Amino acid sequence: MVGLQPTPKGPSLVLHPMAAPGAAPRVFTHDQVAWPQAWSAHRSPRRVVVDLRDHGSLEIDATAQWHAALAAAGARPGLAQRMQIHWPVLLAVAVAAAVAVALFYRFGTPWAATQLTRYVPLSWETSLAENALQQMDEGTLKPSKLPAERQAQLRARFDQLAQQTPPALQRYRGYAPRLTLAFRSGMDANAFALPGGTVVMTDALVRVAAEKGLDDNALIGVLAHEIGHVAHRHTTRMLVEQGVLNVGLGLALGDVSSVLSTGGSLLTGLAYRRNHEREADCFAIALMGHAALPTAPMGQLLLAIAHGEEDAQEKAEAQAQAKGETKAGKPADTKRAPPGEQGVWSWLSSHPDTVERATELERGHAPRCAAP
Ligand SMILES: [Zn+2]
Repeated sequence: MVGLQPTPKGPSLVLHPMAAPGAAPRVFTHDQVAWPQAWSAHRSPRRVVVDLRDHGSLEIDATAQWHAALAAAGARPGLAQRMQIHWPVLLAVAVAAAVAVALFYRFGTPWAATQLTRYVPLSWETSLAENALQQMDEGTLKPSKLPAERQAQLRARFDQLAQQTPPALQRYRGYAPRLTLAFRSGMDANAFALPGGTVVMTDALVRVAAEKGLDDNALIGVLAHEIGHVAHRHTTRMLVEQGVLNVGLGLALGDVSSVLSTGGSLLTGLAYRRNHEREADCFAIALMGHAALPTAPMGQLLLAIAHGEEDAQEKAEAQAQAKGETKAGKPADTKRAPPGEQGVWSWLSSHPDTVERATELERGHAPRCAAP
């Protein structure tokens, strides 16, 4: 004879041996029984099988009585079983899970990455940066052709600016990388920051600024923006974020995660880039303001380059059309590949909001920047 007894943890199962009257009943605690699950609220199965693990199993034909006894003994169906029986519960759990994953992706990973980045040593960043720059030097980058005295002139102003960074602008307390400026050619007008403090500026950027009649404050502003990327440790945060995302998705989704996390990493890279650019812009505005330097020239430089790129693209398209070529494979695409793909933050990542950024820089005030 089978009995069910309520206990605080849920019903326990009691077996009364009928063949030996008076013998002590055998009690199975709630955890010792693999309770059968219901799959439908309306249809009971013909037979219920209760697994007693090492002690065999029970087959119960009186399923209605079994369920009534279970309910009387205080059995509460678990969430999994309720999901099986009631589709609104299943739907609600699915929606909650989707919302949780979305929130984790949008807010959880960047937050976790920002916190974890504190524990990434500076030496790790500098060796990563050395490798990256070496690879770029073996690839597209060429040595600078700027005269040595011009390089020294700009480097002196860069060093001065770096020293003027007020403690209030430090994003990570105690993080003080040695900021160095490097010159390269072989790339379009641009500047980018490597993790750990190396900022690279291209000859073309210096040339464009001169062609537009802008003074060196334009270039210094761009360098202030790059120092912002260094201080906020954006590259490191991105890398840590991808790690967090991979681990998080792995925990949430199990084996299918390898495919999904790769896609997720790609998405993170694109989605948060704009946010990082904004942080670097705010940093530049604050630092330039602190050093009593104007940000308008860098805004003008940004606009000039953006328009120049558009013009070049239009020209290339017009030429291609004149030759009767198709749009596919136009040279402008390969030329514009941002260095961000090589794991660095460039000043001119492909922004849809370049004009907005340039306007804010020209005014020296961005509404989204927190007051320093
Ligand atoms: Zn940037």
